[in-house]
Amino acid sequence: MEKSIDLITRIKRDMGDKLAILGHHYQSDNVIAHTDIRGDSLELSRKISDLDAKHIVFCGVYFMAESAAILRRSGQKIHIPDTTATCPMADMAEAGRVEKTLDILQKNGRKITPLTYVNSSAAVKAVVGRCNGSVCTSANARIMLEWALKQGDAVLFLPDKHLANNTANTLNIPKESRRMLPEGVINGDPELFLAPDITENKQLIIWPGYCPIHEEFTLDAIDRIRANEPDARIIVHPECNPAVVQACDGNGSTTYLIKYAEKAPAGSTLYIGTENNLVQRLATRFKGEKTIKPLLVSLCEDMGKITVDNLALLLENIEESTPIDVIDDIKKPAKLALERMLEVCS
Ligand code: SF4
Repeated sequence: MEKSIDLITRIKRDMGDKLAILGHHYQSDNVIAHTDIRGDSLELSRKISDLDAKHIVFCGVYFMAESAAILRRSGQKIHIPDTTATCPMADMAEAGRVEKTLDILQKNGRKITPLTYVNSSAAVKAVVGRCNGSVCTSANARIMLEWALKQGDAVLFLPDKHLANNTANTLNIPKESRRMLPEGVINGDPELFLAPDITENKQLIIWPGYCPIHEEFTLDAIDRIRANEPDARIIVHPECNPAVVQACDGNGSTTYLIKYAEKAPAGSTLYIGTENNLVQRLATRFKGEKTIKPLLVSLCEDMGKITVDNLALLLENIEESTPIDVIDDIKKPAKLALERMLEVCS
């Protein structure tokens, strides 16, 4: 690893402004140490067009690099150190199945507006863009769901069932007005699992995907903390199960979790339910001032595929490396979907 660190340091110095390394909050400290900008997926993508760098290296998972490739300026090249680092939740919604699902559900004449969480492929964002839908993040899901509900008869929220239900809870959408699609649509032909009337009279149709990392957090873990440390605060990401979210003291995006930790009083104890790299970084940052612990240690293996070694290898060969790109047929409608969100949230 020492050799890779020296190499990264030298290449960064030599390339100067021509190179920018961006890192998601869930990256390991070893990788984060070499990043110029860190943030959540959308924060990072939105910064792309302001950067002067020709080469932009995205330390995160593939859909994030794709979003960056959609929003990049011409001449900018987007790279990821390991293209096999994908998001298992994003992989639970395949574009062809999403499109077919929308076709089936609209056969009875209802207008369904798709709203995809940013954790989805460019191809899914393109389907959504073509169907007059948009994108949301965990920070703006409430605003975007309110917007989407006004666009037609119902909303198809994808791919995260927990973010869908947690957001619906904040808007007081009754449970009877929601329909979770059968799990078969994740891997099978939607024709086999869906009838057009399956969502009749429903306001919110929910794709059954989830994040396996946030699925790990349980009510049992919360109950144990409440019993043993009644003064401790517990906050989680809204990709967690709604029962867990409701039992906590707060929930929100990674930016929300970081701000909550910053504002927590000195001497207090805070448990955080999200990917462990972020929790440990906050624990180290506030050591001696306040106690920050993971609700449970849960690591994203795909985020962990980005290492100092593959970052060094990419930088060493960056001029010859094939950048991440998205074909125009996908890029244009996907960009439209993203721009609708930026407009609604401006
Ligand atoms: S933590 Fe969950 S949502 Fe984030 S990249 Fe990993 S699997 Fe995807």
